[in-house]
Amino acid sequence: MCKDSQAWYKRDYTGTSPAFTALRSAYQREIISLMTSARTILTDGGTLKLAVQRKGRLTEHSMSLLHHIGLNFESYGQKLFSQVRNFPLSLLYARDDDIPGYVSLNTVDLGIVGRNLVHEYQSDAVEIHPLGFGYCSLVIAVPNESAASSPEDLKSGRIATSYPSSTRRFFESIGGNPEIISISGSVEIAPALDIADAIVDLSATGSSLQLNDLRPIHSILESEAVLIANRAALDDPDRRQNIDRLLMRVKAVEAASQYKYVMMNAHESALPAIRAVIPGLKAPTIVPLADPGWYAVHTAISEEYFWEKIEELREAGASEILVSSLDKLLL
Ligand code: ATP
Ligand code: ZN
Repeated sequence: MCKDSQAWYKRDYTGTSPAFTALRSAYQREIISLMTSARTILTDGGTLKLAVQRKGRLTEHSMSLLHHIGLNFESYGQKLFSQVRNFPLSLLYARDDDIPGYVSLNTVDLGIVGRNLVHEYQSDAVEIHPLGFGYCSLVIAVPNESAASSPEDLKSGRIATSYPSSTRRFFESIGGNPEIISISGSVEIAPALDIADAIVDLSATGSSLQLNDLRPIHSILESEAVLIANRAALDDPDRRQNIDRLLMRVKAVEAASQYKYVMMNAHESALPAIRAVIPGLKAPTIVPLADPGWYAVHTAISEEYFWEKIEELREAGASEILVSSLDKLLL
């Protein structure tokens, strides 16, 4: 492919054409002015603004987390804002790429976004908590038939990516200076079009790479959705207090998903063996049953070794084992 057609490709897909930039900045101005008017309505000190992805891979999980921590709001269709009814918080629905900027520019106090974007934009927003969804890696991948087997082999190659800054910084860190071709979508087809020798792209299962006859050779970054905060918000006592309240709820939901609540019956003689199997969060709750010599034992068991513990409990003499999920767990 000749140089000219490469230039055409870059121009058309990088999203930096004057028309695109004008459109995008008009959109951003609109958001900022809407946020500013929202700020004047919500003059209450400590009120927070949180940006979440409007439509994409993180949207469903983000919404479900916010509802799960007890926030009551409407989110439908093309809404740009929601006001949470039972917490001093308003939500802004945005493109994920804009969220790190909104947070560092103080347009919003908080954001839910992939760590990959915070890294790409070198945002000075603070990652305050990983959220356990949206897992993916930013990987370097080459065509199956490529001789390249490590990033060193691509130091002066051509690399297509939607993550030009992360790619450049990574290669600089290993003393490389590849040609970086910025593409905003369908990066995987670049090697087949002979636009690039390798790509840097997000991969969760690797299936999209496989489908395009590519193989990963190195991971630049491990990513997941994270809660990010603006430094000024963290330094402001009123907003900080509300951020901590939200964080406590998020952690309670997270802890609950890591444990099962287990109830079982056991004869008095089995209690020492059962206690040795399950230390419980502190100690198990042991309550006498109507039948003399029999007890009900209640405890929480980590998902991590749940089945092992259940087997050991049965061996130790536990019976009628009842398991239920926890909704929230405050440790
Ligand atoms: P927007 O329209 O908001 O700009 P987008 O198309 O850029 O959305 P999505 O594809 O919805 O972004 O991905 C959002 C985030 O989901 C990514 O930034 C990343 O953190 C995470 N993610 C998880 N798995 C993947 C994957 N396999 N490919 C891409 N992103 C993934
Ligand atoms: Zn995006």
